[in-house]
Amino acid sequence: MTIEIKDLCFAYRNSKELAVNQFSMNIETGEVISILGRSGSGKSTVLRILAGLEVPSEGEFTLFGETMFGKSTFVQPEKRGIGLVFQDYALFPHMTVFDNVKFGLSKLSKTDRNKRANEVLELVEMQDYKKRFPHQLSGGQQQRVALARALAPNPKLLLLDEPFSNLDKELQNKIREELYSILKRAQITSIFVTHDEDDAHTIADRIVKLDKGKVTKIGRPCDMLGTP
Ligand code: ADP
Ligand code: ADP
Repeated sequence: MTIEIKDLCFAYRNSKELAVNQFSMNIETGEVISILGRSGSGKSTVLRILAGLEVPSEGEFTLFGETMFGKSTFVQPEKRGIGLVFQDYALFPHMTVFDNVKFGLSKLSKTDRNKRANEVLELVEMQDYKKRFPHQLSGGQQQRVALARALAPNPKLLLLDEPFSNLDKELQNKIREELYSILKRAQITSIFVTHDEDDAHTIADRIVKLDKGKVTKIGRPCDMLGTP
């Protein structure tokens, strides 16, 4: 089973240009995909469409056999089983690390909720920081907690928007290696957006290059070298 994305088109209301122009690709289970492009190339808009936060004018999106968007279908964001990690982490400042991670698990019993929160905190190696508040953590640690929170409900697909942009260069290098191993350990299919070639090449199984809303190239990192 795969993720099928076909011919997505989208223009913002006040704009004549398409922010996303016939975006198509298939993704295999467990793949880590990176969408690489300059600022304004439409990367975030693609993620917003997949998450259900924007409605495309055309196209189809099927998530492991289930249509999320199509001619007569629109599945609401909260029903899609898609996890999101934004640039600014958006952890709840008044909640501890543990409560932040438990937040999306209200369907589970109290025991299962605690168990799952512990599991994902262990996965990102933050189990010793459960009682801290976000402001008591470094940027890299907040990043890992945000990831744990997104992973906790077992999303079918994880979307990450410039997850390293708020970190300094040294920390970025460390975190992207970590992120790749966490994603692979969790066996989670994911798409992450970046304008940084190094990020894309370190983390992705395949890279999608985007320019002015259009896909210009899709391939493995080793096939991308030397292309504009
Ligand atoms: P990226 O994530 O690659 O920086 P975006 O998806 O944010 O690109 O933006 C794609 C295009 O859509 C850009 O030309 C941008 O100016 C435009 N755009 C983004 N958000 C809005 C908005 N809310 N209203 C109008 N235009 C927007
Ligand atoms: P990392 O590389 O994991 O992001 P840092 O090197 O930035 O961590 O931080 C090292 C230690 O300092 C960590 O154990 C972290 O808990 C602590 N620390 C960093 N920033 C803060 C802060 N603002 N308040 C309290 N502790 C902090």
